[in-house]
Amino acid sequence: MNAEDIIRRFDEAIEKNYIFPEYQPQINHATGRLIGAEALMRWEDPKLGKLYPNQFIPVMEEYDLIYRADIHLFSCVCKFLKKCIDEAIPIVPISVNMSRHDIFNHDYVEAVESIRKAYGVPVEYIRLELTESSVIGGMELVVGVLEQLHAHGYKVEMDDFGSGYSSLNVLKELEVDVIKLDMYFFTGELDKRGGTIITTVVNMAKWLGIPVIAEGVETAEQAEFMKSIGCNYIQGYLYYKPISEPVLIRELRKRDHETAKPAMQLVDTMDAAKFWSPDSLETLIFNHYVGGACIFSYKNGRLELLRVNDKYTQELGMNMSAKQLIDTNPWKLMDEENKEIYLNAINKALDTDDEVVVETWRTLSSDCCGDENICIRSTIRMIGQATDQYLFYAMIQNITAEKRQYMHVLSSEQRFLRAAEQANMYAWEYDIRTKEMRPCFRCMRDLGLPMLVKNYPEPAIEMGIFQPDYADMYRDWHKQLEEGVEHLEAIMPLTVGRVPFHVRYTTEFDENGRPLKAYGSATLVVDEEENKEES
Ligand code: C2E
Ligand code: MG
Ligand code: MG
Repeated sequence: MNAEDIIRRFDEAIEKNYIFPEYQPQINHATGRLIGAEALMRWEDPKLGKLYPNQFIPVMEEYDLIYRADIHLFSCVCKFLKKCIDEAIPIVPISVNMSRHDIFNHDYVEAVESIRKAYGVPVEYIRLELTESSVIGGMELVVGVLEQLHAHGYKVEMDDFGSGYSSLNVLKELEVDVIKLDMYFFTGELDKRGGTIITTVVNMAKWLGIPVIAEGVETAEQAEFMKSIGCNYIQGYLYYKPISEPVLIRELRKRDHETAKPAMQLVDTMDAAKFWSPDSLETLIFNHYVGGACIFSYKNGRLELLRVNDKYTQELGMNMSAKQLIDTNPWKLMDEENKEIYLNAINKALDTDDEVVVETWRTLSSDCCGDENICIRSTIRMIGQATDQYLFYAMIQNITAEKRQYMHVLSSEQRFLRAAEQANMYAWEYDIRTKEMRPCFRCMRDLGLPMLVKNYPEPAIEMGIFQPDYADMYRDWHKQLEEGVEHLEAIMPLTVGRVPFHVRYTTEFDENGRPLKAYGSATLVVDEEENKEES
């Protein structure tokens, strides 16, 4: 394909929409939300095939076709935005590229304005991208166009910032609203020179109060690096390649933009806004000094995960990315019972304005781990509030192993209980330090003991389990346990029926030899006694 083909096919391509936009979404890496998109020119020609900008833009620029192409693309974008308005598709601002040649054309601003008005698209839905190289033709001219665009209410982005052309000077002269930093210009290791330059550019932009979008972000490392220096807006293959209009519509419909950036009020000294600010102390703590933590919003029964730190994904141990987690509806991970438990915890946290601890089972699935049932202990606290929406902070702990072990112990205890039942045995655990006694199920069932008996053995004596003539001896046993006796045993008549039981205690000691717990048991001795008498 050569320049002549392009020139020859150009009119028909415009007329028949062989030239059209694809859209590359821009993402807030901190929340995983789609915040905008860039329209990128594509040419799919029945005769020439599929063409990319690097093949035709230089030719269009050389042969003065670029202005018409850009105006055509601008109309396509307005048409798309109009469709979004008409069909109530959630809208994000769309960035449209302008060539430096467009700027030389005195009609440009008027032309885009009349198209936008014809489609009835509010100006805030459109941004225009200007490249640094535009100033080659003369800074004054560009400053003039920028002023005109601003006068009409357009936001203007500086594309490919850092590509050369004395960037700092350009920034000083041109009052752009957004800077697009192309990672492509900083190939190499980010912890070296490239990283220093990017950090400086981002800091400089922050001093000027200009948001930065990192473009061409392909790896998670690049994204994390940008996040670490306070640049959360990302456009690149890591999240999306340029996509078609129907795919963009599908992505837009997936997201509820109302909850994306909640306008929160403060609760006490906790400043919810600080969690959004990349360089606040809270964010630093969130990312580095706490365990697994997340921020989620709660609105009319809907939960939405807004932000998770690295340790959160590690804690889940499922090899899932923050984005995958954020994209998942948390309710879908829980069954009805666990949902209710979690919902109760949320309501309690709202009622009490205090930290609430809750344990729930969830089923997570990831490509590498498949489906996994995990138990999470969450400590949740409300940190921000808008009219009918709340912001929560949650620290999480994966307690699956602990829970499984507990369940295992529980089932072995049940087995033990069944065996005890067969052996006519009663068992209990006595905590020597706190004087608390935990009876076995049979003790509770047959003797009417509660699950936890405080100040043992007094209540058992009062209940008549230990008869008055044995009470002092039994009290003395507990003194001996305190003093560190290892083993005690005797035959005692128990309960009002004065049934003889073989009562035993075995003591457990800590690593310093101090008595910790004593395990008590009482076995019916009728048969034994009878046997003895017989022999
Ligand atoms: P740009 O405006 O800086 O657009 C970003 C380019 O980077 C796009 O290439 C995009 O597909 C590509 N890109 C995005 N993420 C990644 C990534 O992670 N890795 C890599 N390697 N590339 C990524 P595309 O679509 O080929 O466009 C190239 C250039 O062509 C654009 O650079 C822009 O300067 C120009 N262009 C595109 N559409 C238009 C248009 O409608 N009008 C004008 N005048 N120029 C346009
Ligand atoms: Mg661009
Ligand atoms: Mg760019």
